[in-house]
Amino acid sequence: MTGAARALVSLAAWRQNLAVARRAARGARVMAAIKADGYGHGLIAAARALSGADAFAVARMDEAVALRNAGFAHRIVLLEGVFSAEQMQAAQSRRLDLVIHDPVQLGLLENGDPRRPVTVWIKVDSGMHRLGFLPEEVPDVIERLQGMRAVAESPALLTHLANADARDEAVTAAQIAAFDRAAQGISGPKSIANSAGLLWYPDCLADWVRPGIMLYGVSPFVGGRAGEEGLQPVMTLTSELIAVKHLRAGDPVGYGGTWCLPDDSRVGVVAIGYGDGYPRHAPSGTPVLVNGRRVPLVGRVSMDMLSVDLGSQGEEQPGDPVTLWGDGLAVEEVAEQAGTIAYELLCCVTSRVPRLYV
Ligand SMILES: *Cc1c(COP(=O)(O)O)cnc(C)c1O
Repeated sequence: MTGAARALVSLAAWRQNLAVARRAARGARVMAAIKADGYGHGLIAAARALSGADAFAVARMDEAVALRNAGFAHRIVLLEGVFSAEQMQAAQSRRLDLVIHDPVQLGLLENGDPRRPVTVWIKVDSGMHRLGFLPEEVPDVIERLQGMRAVAESPALLTHLANADARDEAVTAAQIAAFDRAAQGISGPKSIANSAGLLWYPDCLADWVRPGIMLYGVSPFVGGRAGEEGLQPVMTLTSELIAVKHLRAGDPVGYGGTWCLPDDSRVGVVAIGYGDGYPRHAPSGTPVLVNGRRVPLVGRVSMDMLSVDLGSQGEEQPGDPVTLWGDGLAVEEVAEQAGTIAYELLCCVTSRVPRLYV
């Protein structure tokens, strides 16, 4: 069978992971990050499965619009905010919460429609130096917002952690301290924690937590595994063998002949490649499950195929099931082999791979 690549997406795992997040949040409200098409799992499916969350966070306007069009009435926080008067209007008419991180956005709020005030989240740059106002700029921002009729009262405050995934306590503690200083005397709700913060730093739970990757059943920690946190993988990327070849010791396999068989063996060809989002940089030796058995990837990953060494003995044949990651094979392990992070692998599964919700 061709076109065998499938991403099986487990709704039960999603709900279980949300329950793990909820427990760790200890009463803080949970904003589920479902940006980038629900980390590659499907935006609407993610919103449906995670509809028990108190809010959704997305990066861009089109994602927020898609959620409203699908009927979700949740709070939706636009993490990058708006960049034009048209977007401001779209945000107001759809009742989106807006992050502001730049003075330009203050101007857009100033000219907003006073009949539809929006909730504003001030992004504080507590040390990551990506988006946000510096802690010392926050009082001025608040003062400007106070006069604006398109802004609902009591802006919320959020910041983002740069090193929580590495369990880098010194950097994270300094970020939390910088945020707390900026937040002093401010009455609105506060939010610091991504998944790693939520699971590792009880100091940063605040009023809202913002888990992303853990909801998809992936450990947020460098070198970590989902099971250590009680998380279950949501996506299992599967395909099938489409050929099994008997080759001789010394035979090269794949483009460039970068890998040669050390012994006579059987090489299986799997119907999945970088055109499906499997990382081309995964080196020989990266684990793959064939009929549930771990075998090594060999040679370069092609656009539509990759090869595995099945060993000299065995009964595998075309049509046998293959798992690239997920149930039985941690996406974290494949990501480490490929020199990247699980976030990227999940987001990069291409649109030609059907998502099957089970
Ligand atoms: C993506 C994102 C999150 C979620 O991060 P994870 O590491 O996936 O838990 C939280 N906050 C902001 C601002 C984000 O952009």
